[in-house]
Amino acid sequence: VLDSAAKVPSKILDLMDGFKASKALFVASKLKMFDHLKKRSPLKAEDIANEVGTSVCGTERLLDACAALGLLEKTPQGYNNTDSANTYLASDGEYSLHGYIIHSNDHLWPLFTHLESAVKEGSRQNHRAFGKKTEDLFNDYYQSQEVKQRFMAAMHSIAHLTARDVATAFDLSEFKTACDLGGCTGALAHELIQIYPNMKVTVFDLPEVIANSSCFQPSEQYTAPVTFVSGDFFTDDLPEADLYILSRVLHDWPDEKIHVLLNRISTVCRPGSALLVAETVLDEQKTHPPRTVLQSLSMTEGKQRSGSEYKQLLEKYGFTNTQIKITGNLLDTVLCFKKSQSSWHA
Ligand code: SAM
Repeated sequence: VLDSAAKVPSKILDLMDGFKASKALFVASKLKMFDHLKKRSPLKAEDIANEVGTSVCGTERLLDACAALGLLEKTPQGYNNTDSANTYLASDGEYSLHGYIIHSNDHLWPLFTHLESAVKEGSRQNHRAFGKKTEDLFNDYYQSQEVKQRFMAAMHSIAHLTARDVATAFDLSEFKTACDLGGCTGALAHELIQIYPNMKVTVFDLPEVIANSSCFQPSEQYTAPVTFVSGDFFTDDLPEADLYILSRVLHDWPDEKIHVLLNRISTVCRPGSALLVAETVLDEQKTHPPRTVLQSLSMTEGKQRSGSEYKQLLEKYGFTNTQIKITGNLLDTVLCFKKSQSSWHA
């Protein structure tokens, strides 16, 4: 006979409710409730409803849900942000995740609504979620200025949060020049030059992204000379560098595209040059970390890889001495070095 505690399958119940908690976080973020509470608190539900333009009863239920989830504190005087809401949920926090939360609400949520079809068909559900099918993931994001800005803000928030751990996972001080391919807003590039002041860093990304990158530059006092170059890494000349970086790029593309990209990088690398890959590295069973396994369900044509799979892939393109560092942050790092030309064949 089960005792009453054993009869409560808390893990399963939490998973059943997980979508409600996610949506509460997304909506409170979208309505900028954490921003209002960061500016002034404590605030009552009526005050926030007035400022945001929402119903008092709906606002009160949402704020109570946020308090139940540990995002807010509720006192007799009203609601306050927790420290973590001030840092990560207010849109102006140094390590704000606001951009990624909005991307999760506006882009990932509709895609995941069609997960059943995605599993049956083994493909991304853009057509069902957004009424259009496109060949290239990034064409989707960059067709409208609003969606592009939202996507870049999402990338920026994670890149900024992980940049220090990625930049310091290995001692990169021997490299004089680095090129961050698909480097987007330059969040990692800026961190690199803070840590390695003698390094010259170039961000290489599509023209649509480079045109928008100025919105994401750090304030005057930190401005250091990152160079932005626009181009297509599948077809255009790659800037020269001692260290190439691919952060959250390899997992997006199918094998044929990765073949083109790694072949091109390997060809421009001199012996001794290196490639730094920043991705979440799966364990060998490919069930950990769960966050990354769940991300695969969005069914892009690319895939997440384990450490041995990255090593094998990179070796195929003449990269050797592969070292992997699990950082404990959202991105891990893989560093490898180019062998001399005569000793490898892709
Ligand atoms: N590296 C950044 C990071 O870790 O936050 C951004 C990662 S985002 C998933 C992929 C980046 O690759 C985007 O900035 C995108 O514009 C860029 N990208 C996609 N296709 C590209 C291409 N053909 N040439 C250059 N950059 C490309």
